[in-house]
Amino acid sequence: TEWPVTGKLEICGLVAGYINSVPVLHGLSFAVAHGEKIGVVGRTGAGKSTLAQTLMRLIEASSGKIILDGVNVAEIGLERLRQAITIIPQDPVLFNGTVRFNLDPFGDHSDELLFDALRRTLLLQDQSTGRGSGVAAFTSLDDVIMGSGHGLSLGQRQLVALARALVRRSRVVIMDEATASVDFATDECMQRAIRGAELANSTLLCIAHRLRTIIDYDRILVLDKGKVVEFDTPKNL
Ligand code: ATP
Ligand code: MG
Repeated sequence: TEWPVTGKLEICGLVAGYINSVPVLHGLSFAVAHGEKIGVVGRTGAGKSTLAQTLMRLIEASSGKIILDGVNVAEIGLERLRQAITIIPQDPVLFNGTVRFNLDPFGDHSDELLFDALRRTLLLQDQSTGRGSGVAAFTSLDDVIMGSGHGLSLGQRQLVALARALVRRSRVVIMDEATASVDFATDECMQRAIRGAELANSTLLCIAHRLRTIIDYDRILVLDKGKVVEFDTPKNL
């Protein structure tokens, strides 16, 4: 059966943290409607990345629930969950292999679709002119990525993870933006790509470090010390 049909998320009393230490998330509760675009902000250490990892069950919650489209995610297989939710991590680790393999490891999609994702994320260099955008890293889908992607810049690695998200079109996409080390042009490129047609219908949680990046989002979730301190429209905050 098809699940999830919508990207509706309900987080109830979520407590989570790292092994052998005190919890980082102290009972978070909030709900996100299908297709809503949520900006997540908070000081360094507030628990933003921990929340993202807990939603993916990379960290298991010690109590509370995550309900995605009516189903408690603790009760479904990890593989299914990770198909339903795509994360663009703060520091992505890529596969050693071709660009094609990184975007579409199971060979589900056409080259045209993969090229589209590369173009939208400005990762594709134009072979005829030899020029690309400031961030272009690849000339073909057969380019090989080695060293888990560490030959690329952090911004480029995030763009590859974003291109993968465009290809997958998951119902829920979580973007954990890299910190200020990523330049404004890359940041803008990511925002433009994530607002494109592919993910127009997906629920988006974007962890951002610059307020101006998310000022036109539907709502802003403000975290502090593992708690929700505000959750409202940018206008009301
Ligand atoms: P930033 O804006 O810097 O990315 P953040 O809001 O994403 O910060 P988290 O990475 O979620 O913050 O960290 C929240 C807390 O969890 C911090 O106190 C941090 O030290 C702790 N923490 C993060 N990762 C680990 C880990 N792998 N093991 C133990 N503690 C961790
Ligand atoms: Mg973080």
